[in-house]
Amino acid sequence: MSDHVDLLAIAAHRDDVELTCGGTLAKAVRVGHRVGIVDLTQGESATRGDAATRAAEAVRAAAVLGVHLRLNAEFPDAHVQNDEASREKLVELIRRTKPRLVILPYPVGRHPDHRVASELGRDACFLAGLAKYGKAAEPHRPFKVVYALAYREDPVKPSFVVDISDTFEAKMQAIRCYASQFDGAKAAGEIFPTGQDLYELIRVQSAHYGSLIRRPYGEPFFMHETIVVDDVLELGVQSF
Ligand SMILES: [Zn+2]
Repeated sequence: MSDHVDLLAIAAHRDDVELTCGGTLAKAVRVGHRVGIVDLTQGESATRGDAATRAAEAVRAAAVLGVHLRLNAEFPDAHVQNDEASREKLVELIRRTKPRLVILPYPVGRHPDHRVASELGRDACFLAGLAKYGKAAEPHRPFKVVYALAYREDPVKPSFVVDISDTFEAKMQAIRCYASQFDGAKAAGEIFPTGQDLYELIRVQSAHYGSLIRRPYGEPFFMHETIVVDDVLELGVQSF
């Protein structure tokens, strides 16, 4: 039971989920959901910091967010592949954690690992539900997959934005745990440099997404399915 979660965020590198959906994870924890993270790589190819440093940073960041579980698939950094061995390993982790909802990276990205992680993650979510696929573990298919859309410049409108105003400080505190990566940095992951400090860039971007739902801070997501509404009068976000 201890490894079961309601929400699982899968991403290529330690620090990816903090950057793209850290506020959402912290918020899910606060309302009582069990939340887990699977980092696909250990960060050994990063320009800054080494794998051991990043491992310690990831543990501290997970504690700040309050997540219950943080696993590592130990795929080679900068060489993430959507191949049979990788799918089998990830299927194993999905069956072990049994999430209802999975957050994946957006399918487009600067870093090839981000793009591959997105496709690999989706394929593994499907395959995990096939009774005869992989090693003898109980099949489990997540109910839903959504994609973290933060910082993307593609002309894709978010399907929804999570209000992270109450957990924005926790998100920033978690990001600051990665001092080896970010102290003095002007860019990271999918965040392009503007000359401003990285932490300020993240605040500005989060405020922009918040403005889309008329709140101080937000994190945007994309999904292929359509959102259901039971009572149209409950629709939020004013038009004028
Ligand atoms: Zn990354």
